Formats: sequence, structure tokens, C-alpha cells
Amino acid sequence: MLKKQISVVDSLMRYARLLGYGDVHLKVDQKTGLKAIIAVHNLKRGPAIGGCRLATYETMDKAIEDALRLGYMMSYKAAINNLPHGGAKAVIIKPSVIDDKEAFFEKFGDFVHELGGSYLTAVDSGTSPAEMDIIARRTPYVTCTTTSGIDSDPSPVTALGVRRAIQAAVKFKMGRDSVEGIHVAIQGIGHVGYALAQELHALGAKLTVTDVNLKSLQRCVDEFNANVCAPEEIYHVEADVFAPCAMGKVLNLKTINQLKVAIVAGSANNQLSHSHYGSLLQDRGILYAPDFLINAGGLIHVAVIYDNGDMKRSLEQINRIYDTVYDVFERAAHENCATNKIAEGIAKDRLK
Ligand code: NAD
Repeated sequence: MLKKQISVVDSLMRYARLLGYGDVHLKVDQKTGLKAIIAVHNLKRGPAIGGCRLATYETMDKAIEDALRLGYMMSYKAAINNLPHGGAKAVIIKPSVIDDKEAFFEKFGDFVHELGGSYLTAVDSGTSPAEMDIIARRTPYVTCTTTSGIDSDPSPVTALGVRRAIQAAVKFKMGRDSVEGIHVAIQGIGHVGYALAQELHALGAKLTVTDVNLKSLQRCVDEFNANVCAPEEIYHVEADVFAPCAMGKVLNLKTINQLKVAIVAGSANNQLSHSHYGSLLQDRGILYAPDFLINAGGLIHVAVIYDNGDMKRSLEQINRIYDTVYDVFERAAHENCATNKIAEGIAKDRLK
């Protein structure tokens, strides 16, 4: 039994090393029932920033793996978008019952504070500004509180970044300054997908949407005069842009060969089921806007406002996603390389 546990720890350590982790911190508090992980990926560019996720996990090692999987991507997002921050992720294992919520999150606040400002926590799935307020009683290294000036729903700012990336891609690939009349096929009309549809419709784009939620689809028909297709048909839609805004790993050998679009640009994390599919998109002449670069609107918003910025500065920086992704397109074309490789290379260089 002990041998098996050691090999799990060994493989997690290997995974952490492979991803380039600096520190992984664990906290177990008997009194409150708190079991938490803070995975700090990189501090080269400044304090690491990343959300605090509260979720159910079967085992501690699954929670650690999740924190590692999520944290390093925050470093890449921050670096490629020139934020003075590293990336991190906190994961709290959700107990079946939290007896004393205040004590539970205060203890997590103590945990964050023990790291001396190397980690700045924020809202993620399972937590809200109310929990951030409790954490803020114990540490200043917290944002997204009810008084922070940060909207608790990051989707509109995420959608803004994706829309700017679509505009950059349309300019680069199609030579057009406007998205008016451009046909965008959106997979997933949830928080970000809907906000993106709203932005694109306002600019005169034509929309085809799909979702497993029929109510969301009807809303897009009523408000944006969108066409609707079945979930499996979205890869076959003849359009200018495919925007994956539902889930990860949707771009694989089968789906990439089905696509009839010039551009892929959406909010979903980890869209490529393997990083070498970026080259397959390139071979097919499809311009891919790297997901971690263009879906960082929420992170940029939180970081800029925490660093003494305001809404105006935050929006300015999110708008700059246009220039950043355009630069990646140019370099990829110049070096005859996949766009995701170029973007990852820039992020990695900045983290060295
Ligand atoms: P969401 O849960 O609100 O929306 C996802 C939508 O996809 C839902 O409407 C769901 O019904 C739909 N869906 C699920 N399975 C589907 C399928 N097979 N085909 C079509 N639609 C399907 O999530 P969200 O907050 O809008 O985030 C969307 C994606 O963007 C996620 O991958 C998320 O990780 C990523 N992301 C979101 C943010 C953000 O600010 N919310 C930031 C960065 C990245």
C-alpha cells in the first residue's frame, strides 16, 4: 500500500517537473476539514495569479493533478498577454458537508497568506465573491471580492478577447477590416458563446449556432436571427470561422478533416486534442487562433484591476489581444510553423 502511494507521489512529481512547476503546496486542517492544494507554476514575471476551484475529488492525488493541469496554463496565458504575473491554481477538495463555512475559508485565507504574496487567489468554478470576502479577512492576496470592482462573471470580457481575435484572424486571412457579413459557427452558446454571439451580431456577422441546450439555441434565433444545427453537424458547416466555445479536445484528426472554414477561434480551453493537430490545421490552410492566448480576457481583467488598474485599462489590455494574435499569425507564416507552437514558444521564452 505504502509502495503504491509513493509511486503516485513519484508520478505527480514527474508531472510537475515536466510542466515546469516551481512549488506545489498542500494544506490539511483537521479542525475545519480543509484540504487544499496551491500549485504555483512560475514567479519569473511576478506574483502567480489563478483561481481557487472548489470541487469534489475522489482522492487527493486527483486534486493535485487537476491543480497542476490548470496552473501551468495560467502562466502561459499571463506571459503571452504580457501580464506581470506568473500562473497558479488553487484546488480545494469539497467535503460532503462544510460545518463552518467562515472558518473553512478563513483557514484557506491563512494558507494563501503563508505563501507571502507569491500567490494571488481569485474566483473559479465552485467559488464566488462571497467566499473571496471571507478569504480577504486573513490575507490581502485575494481579488474578485464583492468590493474589488471585478464582475463576478468573466464571460463578457472573455468573449471580448475572442471577438478581437476573430477580427484579427479575419483581417490576416481574408484581408477584411470588418466582420460584417462574416459567417461564424459557434459551438456552445453558454456564458461565453452567448456573449460572443451578441458581440458578433452587433457587428453584422452571420451566425450558425449549436448547443445541447435547446432554450439557449432558441434565444439566439430570437435575438440574433441565428441558424441552428445539431451538435455533430457543427464541424460540417460551411462558414468563415469555427468558434469552439463548449469544451476541450474538439479538434482531432476526424473533426479537422471535416471543417469547411478558414479560421478556428473560440474560447474553449485545450481545443487541440494533441498539440501536433495545430500543424494539421496549418496543412489544411485553416488559421488557428491559439486558445490560451485569446481566451485570457478574464485573467487580464482580474490582473489589471488588482494591479491598481480600472475598467478602462482592463478593456484596453484585452483589446490588445488583436495585436498579440496578429503578431503570432505573422510569425507563424514567416517561419512556416503552426500558430500554437509559435504562441507556446513566446510564452515559454518569457517564463525562462
Ligand atoms: P458554459 O458551461 O456556460 O457553456 C458551455 C456551453 O456548451 C453550454 O451551453 C453547454 O450546453 C454547451 N455544450 C455542452 N456540450 C456540448 C456539445 N457537445 N455540443 C454543443 N454544445 C455543448 O461555459 P462557458 O463559461 O461559456 O465556457 C465555455 C468554454 O470556454 C469552456 O471550455 C471554458 O473552459 C472556456 N473558458 C471560459 C471562460 C469564461 O470566462 N467563462 C474563460 C476561459 C475559458
